[in-house]
Amino acid sequence: MAEECIFCRIVAGELPADIVYQDEDFLAFRDIMPKAPTHVLIIPRTHITSVAELTDGQQKLGGRLIIIAKNLAKKEGIARKGYRLVINCGTEGGQVVPHLHLHLLGGRQMDARLG
Ligand code: 5GP
Ligand code: ZN
Repeated sequence: MAEECIFCRIVAGELPADIVYQDEDFLAFRDIMPKAPTHVLIIPRTHITSVAELTDGQQKLGGRLIIIAKNLAKKEGIARKGYRLVINCGTEGGQVVPHLHLHLLGGRQMDARLG
């Protein structure tokens, strides 16, 4: 756990979160400032700063993030109409929280422009 990382603190139960999914390796919770009717963040329990830090040996972890998001989209009732998955990486990528997370956004029409 990274002491100053808010998402590590959520994993540790030190900060409250509206958790919608958890397993041994992952946690998913609602974004505190939702940008869409459904806005869930899926994170690995272990502290990985960003996509840039993923190793070739972590393909399974990367794949699981997407599969969990897909399953949650169905559970949230947004699978049929569609949704958006976003991972911001680094400063210019718009990443604010330096703990790898996948945004699941849905429940409204997304802008076709990215960024
Ligand atoms: P980023 O810009 O790093 O990709 O996204 C970080 C996201 O985390 C933002 O959408 C922000 O609203 C959300 N966030 C920041 N702090 C907290 C928090 O303490 N709890 C929850 N649930 N979400 C947070
Ligand atoms: Zn962390």
